[in-house]
Amino acid sequence: MKTVLKTSLSTEEQSLVQMAEDVTGRAHVPFTMVQVGSAVLTEGGVYEGCNVESMISGLGICAERNAINHAVLHEGPNLKIEAISVAWNRREIIRPCGACLQYLTEFSNNDVKIIMAQQNEPTVIVGYLRKMLPYGYEL
Ligand SMILES: [Zn+2]
Repeated sequence: MKTVLKTSLSTEEQSLVQMAEDVTGRAHVPFTMVQVGSAVLTEGGVYEGCNVESMISGLGICAERNAINHAVLHEGPNLKIEAISVAWNRREIIRPCGACLQYLTEFSNNDVKIIMAQQNEPTVIVGYLRKMLPYGYEL
C-alpha cells in the first residue's frame, strides 16, 4: 500500500473517492461512531454503500459489502468490480476487513484497486486486492 495525493488519481478515481466520502454521513453507527462510506466501480457503473451497525453482534454490514450488494442489485450476479474506494471520518487508517476482501475476490476477474481515503484529506492510500488477500477463495 502506498500513500499518494488525491490529485494524482485519475478523474474517474477521484470521483469514486468523492462518492465514498459523500455517503459516510449516512452510516448508521450508534455503537462505534465510525462512519464509513464506499463506492465500487464496475464495468457498468458506480454504486455506493455505507456501514450499518446492529445491536445484535455480527448482524451489521461494512460499507464495502453494502456497496457491492448495491451493485449486485443493479447489475446482477455477474458484475465485475474494477476498483473500490473506502472513506471514513476518523484519523485512524481504515482498510477493508477480510470478509470484504473475500467478497471483492468473488466479484472480480482481475486485480482490484482499493483506494482508502480519510475524509477531506489531500492524500489517499492505494492498495490492491491480490496483495491484501492473496489466497482468497475463488469460484
Ligand atoms: Zn468489511
